[in-house]
Amino acid sequence: MKIAFFDTREYDRTAFQELADEAGIEVNWFEARLDRHTAALAKGADAVCIFVNDTADAEVIDTLYELGVKMILLRCAGYNNVDIRHAYGKLHVVHVPAYSPYAVAEHTMALLLTSIRRIHKAYNRTREFNFSLNGLTGFDLHGKTVGVIGTGKIGRIFIDICRGFGMKVIAYDKFPAEGSGIEYVTKDRLFRESDIISLHCPLTEETRHTIDADAIAKMKKGVVILNTSRGPLIDSEALLQGIKDRKVGAACLDVYDEEADIFFEDNSGHILNDDTLARLISMPNVIVTSHQAFLTQEALRNIAETTIQNMKDIAGTGMCKNELCYRCGREDACRRERKGRCF
Ligand code: NAD
Repeated sequence: MKIAFFDTREYDRTAFQELADEAGIEVNWFEARLDRHTAALAKGADAVCIFVNDTADAEVIDTLYELGVKMILLRCAGYNNVDIRHAYGKLHVVHVPAYSPYAVAEHTMALLLTSIRRIHKAYNRTREFNFSLNGLTGFDLHGKTVGVIGTGKIGRIFIDICRGFGMKVIAYDKFPAEGSGIEYVTKDRLFRESDIISLHCPLTEETRHTIDADAIAKMKKGVVILNTSRGPLIDSEALLQGIKDRKVGAACLDVYDEEADIFFEDNSGHILNDDTLARLISMPNVIVTSHQAFLTQEALRNIAETTIQNMKDIAGTGMCKNELCYRCGREDACRRERKGRCF
C-alpha cells in the first residue's frame, strides 16, 4: 500500500513514519497542498492523506479516481474541504473524528487567559527589563458568563474547563445534548448575555458567518470572541469593525477566514496581502495563532494511529467506522448501518 501525503511538515513525518513502517505502508511526502494542480502527484498511490487546507473538490476527486486512488485519508476531524457527495461511489473518505479534543479546548483557554491577563504584552516587556504594570489590568473570569456555540467533544471539555474557573456557562447547539446539564439558550440570548463567546461548531453553509455585524450588534460591549473552530464562522470584516468601534473587547483566533494561503507557512519575509488579517494582527486586543490548537504530541500520535488504522480497515474489509459519506447522520439513508459499508 502506498500513501501520497500532502501538505506535510516535519511534525507530520515524525508522527507517521514509524507507524507506516510498522504497517509496511510506503509513504510519499509532499509539501504541496492537494488541489487540481497537484493531484497528479498521487499517481501510483492507493490513498491520499490530506489536512484542513487541502482541496478535494469534484475536479480533484475525478483526477484521483482516474489515477486509481481509492481513498482520501483526512488527518483531521473537519471535512468541509472535501466534496463527499461527489466522492461517493468513487473514493472512500475517512477522517479522524477525535484526536485530542483536550488539545483544542486547552488552547482555547490558553488564548483567553493570555488575552485578558495581557500575558503576551508582559512577556515582551519583561524581556526588555520593562517591569511596568501600566496597561496590563485584566479581569477575573470567575463569575463571568461564557457562551459556547457547539457542545460536541471540544465544546464540552471547554465548558468543563470554564466551570473549573467558576464561570457561568450558557450554550447554543443545533442538536442540544439531552441530560448533559448544559443550559441551552437561543443564539440571540447567548449573544446578548455572554461576556465571552467561544465557537466550537463545524463549518457548514448554515454556520458560515455565525458571527457577523448583526450578531456583534447584539453582543455586550467588551465581549471577548474566541474562535478555535473554523475561520469562516466569523465575518472577519465585521469583527474588525466591531473592534474599531470598541464594541468587541478582544478576539482570539486560531483560525481565519482566508487562512489557506497564509497559515502554516513562514511569511515573515513577505508583504502580507491580506489587509484585514494585517489590521487584525496590529490590534493590541487581538491574538492570532496559526491553526495550532490541535498541535500536541498526544494529538499527533492519535492522528497517525487512527489514520493508519482507517486505511487498513478500508483496504482490508471496506468497513471503517470513521468513513464519511453524504448520507452520514440521515438515519433513513445510512447504508453502513444496514450493510456495514458506505458503498
Ligand atoms: P463535534 O462534532 O464533536 O461537535 C460539534 C458540535 O457542533 C455538535 O454538538 C453539533 O451538534 C454542533 N453543531 C452542528 N451544527 C451546528 C449548528 N448549525 N449550530 C450550532 N452547533 C452546531 O466536533 P468537535 O470535535 O467538538 O470539533 C468542533 C470543531 O472544532 C470542528 O468542526 C473543527 O472545525 C474544529 N477543530 C479545530 C481544530 C484546531 O486545531 N483549531 C482541531 C480540531 C477541530
